[in-house]
Amino acid sequence: MTDMIVPLVDVRKRAFVPSIEPSAASRQNTLGDTRHRRLHDLRISVTDRCNFRCVYCMPKEVFNNDYPYLKHDELLSFEEITKLAKAFVSLGVEKLRLTGGEPLLRKNVETLIGMLAELRTPAGQPVDLTLTTNASLLAKKARALKAAGLDRITVSLDAMDDTIFKKMNDVDYSVEQVLEGLDAAAAEGFNNIKVNMVVKKGWNEDQVVPMARYFKNSPHIVRFIEYMDVGTSNGWKLDEVVPSKEVLSKIHSEVSPLVSLEPNYQGEVAQRWKYADGSNEVGVISSVTQAFCSSCTRARLSTQGQLYTCLFASQGHDFKALLRGSVATMSDSDGDEALRNAVANVWGARSDRYSEIRTAASFPSDRIEMSYIGG
Ligand code: SAM
Ligand code: SF4
Ligand code: SF4
Repeated sequence: MTDMIVPLVDVRKRAFVPSIEPSAASRQNTLGDTRHRRLHDLRISVTDRCNFRCVYCMPKEVFNNDYPYLKHDELLSFEEITKLAKAFVSLGVEKLRLTGGEPLLRKNVETLIGMLAELRTPAGQPVDLTLTTNASLLAKKARALKAAGLDRITVSLDAMDDTIFKKMNDVDYSVEQVLEGLDAAAAEGFNNIKVNMVVKKGWNEDQVVPMARYFKNSPHIVRFIEYMDVGTSNGWKLDEVVPSKEVLSKIHSEVSPLVSLEPNYQGEVAQRWKYADGSNEVGVISSVTQAFCSSCTRARLSTQGQLYTCLFASQGHDFKALLRGSVATMSDSDGDEALRNAVANVWGARSDRYSEIRTAASFPSDRIEMSYIGG
C-alpha cells in the first residue's frame, strides 16, 4: 500500500491578473464560456489547512511541519470573499460551496456564511449555500452554521471500518466521531446531507458495500467518488481508480438492486441511482472514467484569491491583486462593476476540458493541489 509521493511543485503564486475592462462577455446576462457552459457554481476555499492527512489529498510526507501554509494576511478576508461572490452571483452563480482544506478550521467561518446568505441573484432569490467538511468540528459548529444561514452540508467519510478509516485520514480519527458530527447536523435541522467516499484501490474498495448498507436506511445519501489525479502530491496512478461501474455493480448485487434516476439539474456531477425498494438513493462521481467537462459549470476560488476555471489548471487568475490594487481605489459600485467585468472576461475565455483529453502526454505535471482549491 505504499505510494510514490512526488515532490510538490509550488504553483500557488502563478497567476494572471484579469482585465477589468468591459467586454462582450461582461455585457451578457447569462454568462457562457467558449464551449457554451454557463457559470453556475462557485467553490470557495477558505483555508489551505486541515487537521486530517488523507492519503489521497494531503499525504503526511508532503504536508508536514515544514510545509509553507499561507499566512493569515495572504488569505482573502470575509469582506473580500463576499465582494467577489457578489460579482459571481450577479453573473448567474446560484450555488456557493465553502471548502478547503477543512473549512470549519477557518476562525468564525459562520460570520462569512451569514454574509454570503444575504446575497441575492438577479431574480431576487437567495443562493444555495453549502459546505463540505471532514466533520471533525461539526458537532461543535452545527448549530452556529444553521443559525448563520447555511443550507446544506456534505460530509466526507471513506470507510465504516475504523482501522481502514484511520489509515485513510492518517490522524487516527474514528468513524464514530464523524457519525457524531452527522447526527449533530441532522439534529440541528440540516436535511439532504450527502456523504462523500473517495474510493482508492488497495485501500478502501471493500468498504463500498458496508457504506452503502449503513446509509441505505438513513436520511443521508452516499456518493462514491473516483480517486482523481488532482495536484501532484498524492502520487496518483490510474490503476488505483475503482471505476464507478464496478462500485454500482457491487451495490446492485450485494446490497440491493438499483435503478437510475434523472439528474436534479443540468450539470450535476453525480449520477444518481435509487434502490428499487424505494429506501434511498446513491450517487457516483466518475471524474476519471466518464469525463463531464461538457457540462462543467464550476469555478473555484483559492484561499488566497486566485480563480481557477478547472480543477486541473496549473494557473489561476489573481483576484486578490485586483481587490487589493485597482479595485481598492474605486467607489463601491465601480469596484463591483470592475470585478464583474473581470469574472466575465475570465469565464468568457474559458475552454478547459482536461478530463476529456486526459492522456499521459497532454497532462500538465504542475497541477494545483486539491487542498488549495477545494474539491
Ligand atoms: N476537508 C473537507 C472534506 O474533506 O470534506 C473539504 C475539502 S476536501 C478537498 C473536498 C472533497 O474532495 C472531499 O470530499 C474529499 O474526499 C475530496 N477529495 C480530495 N482529494 C481527492 C482526490 N484525489 N480524488 C477525489 N476526491 C478527492
Ligand atoms: Fe483534509 Fe478534506 Fe483533504 Fe482530507 S480530503 S486531507 S479532510 S482537505
Ligand atoms: Fe470541469 Fe476541468 Fe473537471 Fe473537466 S476536468 S469536469 S473542465 S474541472
